Amino acid sequence: MAEEVKKSEECEHDCESCKENCPSREGMKAPMNKHSDIKKVVAVVSGKGGVGKSLVTGMLAVSLQKMGKTVAVLDADITGPSIPKMFGLTEKVKSGRVGIIPGETKTGIEVMSINLILDNEDDPVIWRGPVVTSVLQQFWSDVVWGEIDCMLVDLPPGTGDAPLTVFQALPLDGIIIVASPQELVSVIVKKAANMARQMDIPILGIVENMSYYECPDCHKRHSIFGESHVDEIAEKYLIKNVAKIPIDSNLAKLCDNGKIEENKADYLEGMAKMLAKPKKTQE
Ligand code: ADP
Repeated sequence: MAEEVKKSEECEHDCESCKENCPSREGMKAPMNKHSDIKKVVAVVSGKGGVGKSLVTGMLAVSLQKMGKTVAVLDADITGPSIPKMFGLTEKVKSGRVGIIPGETKTGIEVMSINLILDNEDDPVIWRGPVVTSVLQQFWSDVVWGEIDCMLVDLPPGTGDAPLTVFQALPLDGIIIVASPQELVSVIVKKAANMARQMDIPILGIVENMSYYECPDCHKRHSIFGESHVDEIAEKYLIKNVAKIPIDSNLAKLCDNGKIEENKADYLEGMAKMLAKPKKTQE
């Protein structure tokens, strides 16, 4: 309590550059739309772009949906949105009487992304932090999500201002870290873990993507991007849920063609089962 009072007294209300978890930050949280009831919000984070963060977000959404959960994906990667393409979503969202109606994939996953708003999705988004914050708050507050068991948030890559903005704007219940084998030996996991700890958000799991390649003929596994370190990292940071995804050209093809919902290789089934549990028992 004394600590909290101290923090409030020192607070300069500049949450954009401060990672402390204080009452001022709580004030930045956007209210939920009154026609929405979102039970759990989990963000998927990575140290840099191109390591498969969106692919993991998409695969988890599909797995949860198959388990009978109601699922939503909020694409918070405003400058590099790739969720709509993965699900083959092209139709722009519409505004209804009570708010914005999110996009819906073939199997019924709700999606909100800047690409479902912009007229030309190839236009670069070059907005500054406060504009991005306000767009994210609108994705949370102005979208009529309805009843959702689990919302997955595809975060911008890194541990800088952009992902920090999302941490501040949305009421996250946990994060899942995605990294390649090379990245897992770098400082990125430490940075992500520190950021989550400082903001009091649990790390629910870690995914090593492009972990290995399995030869289709002899089924021998090859560590193309270096030996796996995910188990030791998980142990070091006390992360209970670990998953490995191999380099899978079929999966890449499905994503590139907007057909991720047709994917049969369920590398993330265990992690999805953990997310499907009620909040208190999930870790
Ligand atoms: P990020 O969201 O981290 O920027 P993406 O999920 O968009 O990365 O993935 C980048 C590219 O790599 C995509 O074309 C995706 O299909 C491909 N990719 C990601 N993971 C794998 C994998 N395990 N096997 C094959 N291709 C992959």
